[in-house]
Parts: sequence; structure tokens; C-alpha cells
Amino acid sequence: MKRVYLDYAATTPVDPAVIKAMEPAFSELWGNPSSIHACGQDARSIVEEARGKVASLIGAQSNEIFFTSGGTEADNWALKGTAYANRERGNHIITCPIEHHAILESCDFLKEQGFSITNVPVDRLGMVDPEEIRKAMTPGTILVSIMHANNEVGTIQPIAEIVRVAHAAGAYFHTDAVQTVGHIPVDVNTMGVDMLSISAHKLYGPKGIGALYVRSGTRISSIIHGGGQERGGRAGTENVPGIIGFGKAAELAAEEMESEARRLISLRDEMIKGILGAIDHTRLNGHATQRLPNNVNISFEFVEGESVCLNLDLSGICAATGSACSSESMEASHVLLAMGMSPEMARGSLRLSLGKWSTEEDVKYVLKTLPPVLSRLRAISPLAKK
Ligand code: PLP
Repeated sequence: MKRVYLDYAATTPVDPAVIKAMEPAFSELWGNPSSIHACGQDARSIVEEARGKVASLIGAQSNEIFFTSGGTEADNWALKGTAYANRERGNHIITCPIEHHAILESCDFLKEQGFSITNVPVDRLGMVDPEEIRKAMTPGTILVSIMHANNEVGTIQPIAEIVRVAHAAGAYFHTDAVQTVGHIPVDVNTMGVDMLSISAHKLYGPKGIGALYVRSGTRISSIIHGGGQERGGRAGTENVPGIIGFGKAAELAAEEMESEARRLISLRDEMIKGILGAIDHTRLNGHATQRLPNNVNISFEFVEGESVCLNLDLSGICAATGSACSSESMEASHVLLAMGMSPEMARGSLRLSLGKWSTEEDVKYVLKTLPPVLSRLRAISPLAKK
């Protein structure tokens, strides 16, 4: 059966050029970068080369990039490390309710440790108003963490403006840029951020490798202790194959990002227009223009997103819902609920996320497959008969 992958926001396939770049790390470059002999130093030199490529993609200095096991660890480190290192200055952290669980759960953990957390609201499009941040700031605010773009609805936040508000009150600023780095321009100096999380598997690199950008001079404690790797910031023998792959993915992203974003915006808008035009009782979730180039997120009334997703899967289309499906309950997406959507409508949401290997033909296939799926599901839906 034809398979159409439209879940690039969950993970991307590894680019064949990335796989090729990683191969030597499994054969001749297997040394430990901490070893002082030639085998170790060969590995050290390719790790540092990759660090330079990741730094260059976001306008950072190489010594401001710390490799981690991915976006989740980078988020945990930014929040816990800043909280622990700045405890004597204050105990207040500001974030928002549509963040990834890596941020929200870290905040819950810090709350148990005596930190105070404020969740500023987002509007119906998922936007954070910098004025809300300003109102939430207190003399004890040590950190503001707001994601660059949301992974479910694709809304892009006005980060530079929010950073100005945080800095004016003396707080650090962190952004989870897992969904944006490699896809839209990210420059740590234009944005002014102090910390920024990246994950390689969202930009055609391997899984299990990411990075935290930490601006020089930022007070942050380590949360993983041991052998003193990553200049004492993050212990553990480096994931050399992952780091090389991440570096190659960053290099490719820098070359391809601009034209790829233009191509994806055109496919995205064709898909949105086609779905909204062909199916009644639907709405686009997230911002129409301040939106990731590859994100389509639509709510369908009277159906469950899971049913839509499973039916699409039967036709070879890999998509996602915003909701977490557990065996006991079908929870509506925390993102859509925070944007003011009713739980019923939120449960009827579908995310289609495009990427490097998405084509016009894929969009046409979705536009042909989706309307009959919706008609069938609505015909048997008790919700539609009300
Ligand atoms: N933050 C965001 C916005 C994400 O979309 C993800 C991945 O789904 C993560 C963090 C976690 O990244 P990782 O899978 O590398 O741990």
C-alpha cells in the first residue's frame, strides 16, 4: 500500500546524507573524545566540528552549545539548572500552558521543591501576549520559558518581545525551539534568548541527541554529574555518532531551509484550503500566518480525532491527533483546551505535519481520502445526530 508520512512534527526520517556522515563513527572514529591519544583526539575533533555547525545554524558561539540526549533533557536542564543556580535571587518561574510536557512536568517538579510557577494564558490562536508576561513578573522572577513554536498547532511566539520584558525585570529567558530550529530562521542574538533547546530528530538527524544553547555568563547548574564532559556542564561520554549526525543535519538545514520553507508553506496552505473547503463544520487551529511552514491542525465537529487518524492509517496516511489516548480515558489536548476550545471540539482534532519528502501528490491524496472518511464517521457518530 502507498504510504504517506505526514507526522514530521513527531519525528523526521534521517536524511541519507546524515546516515552517510555518521558511518565513520561506527568504524574508524570510535574513540572516546576524552582520551588523550590519537584515537580519542580524532573523535574529539569531529565532535567539535559538529558543535560548530550546530552553533552556526543558530548564530551562537561553539562554546555555548552543550550536547544533551535530546529536547526533553535540554528543557529539563534549562529549567532545573537555572532554578537551582539562582535560588538565592528568587523562586518564581513564568511559563505558559501550551508548552511541551518536558517543560510543564519540570515546572511541576520544581513546584514540589518550593518554586512558584505562573502559567500566563494564551489567546484562541495560541499566542502569548508579552503584556501578560510583564504583568506576571515579580521581583523574585528568575526565569521565563516560552516555546518558540507549538508542536501541535504550529503557532510561532513573538520571542524577541517577550525576551525584552523578561530582561527588563532581570530574569533569564529560555525557549524550547525544538520545532523551529532548522525549519525557520533562529538566531539567538536577534531573539536575545539566554537558553534554547534543540532536538536533532526533528531536523532529519538521529534520535537521542539534542543540545542546550547557553549564552556565555548565564548562571546554570548541572543536573547530570559525573566525568565532567561538555566543559563540566553535562557529564557522560559523548554520543559521537549522534553528534556527527546532528552536525550534518544542521549543515543541511542551513543550506535548504529557505527554499524548503517556501515549498512547505505552499503545500500547507493548499492542504488547509482544500480540507476547510471540502468538509463542513471544521476549523483551523492555531495562527493562520504566524505558523510553522509544515503544520496543519484542524478540528472536525462530531468525530474523535483518533477515529479519523486510524481511518487515515488504513489508507496509508500517517497523521497525529492532539490528544493523548490512554486505555482508560481519551484526554483532550492540553494545548487546545488552553486555547479556549471545548473538550468535544478538541477531541476532534487532527495534525498533519509536512516535511522534506512531502509532495503535491501527497496533499492531493489526503484531499481525496479525508472527505469520505469524515462522511463515514459522521454518519455513525451519535454526536452528529444530536
Ligand atoms: N519540545 C517540543 C516542542 C517537542 O515537540 C518535543 C518532541 O516532541 C520535545 C520538546 C522533546 O524532544 P525529544 O523528543 O528530543 O526529547
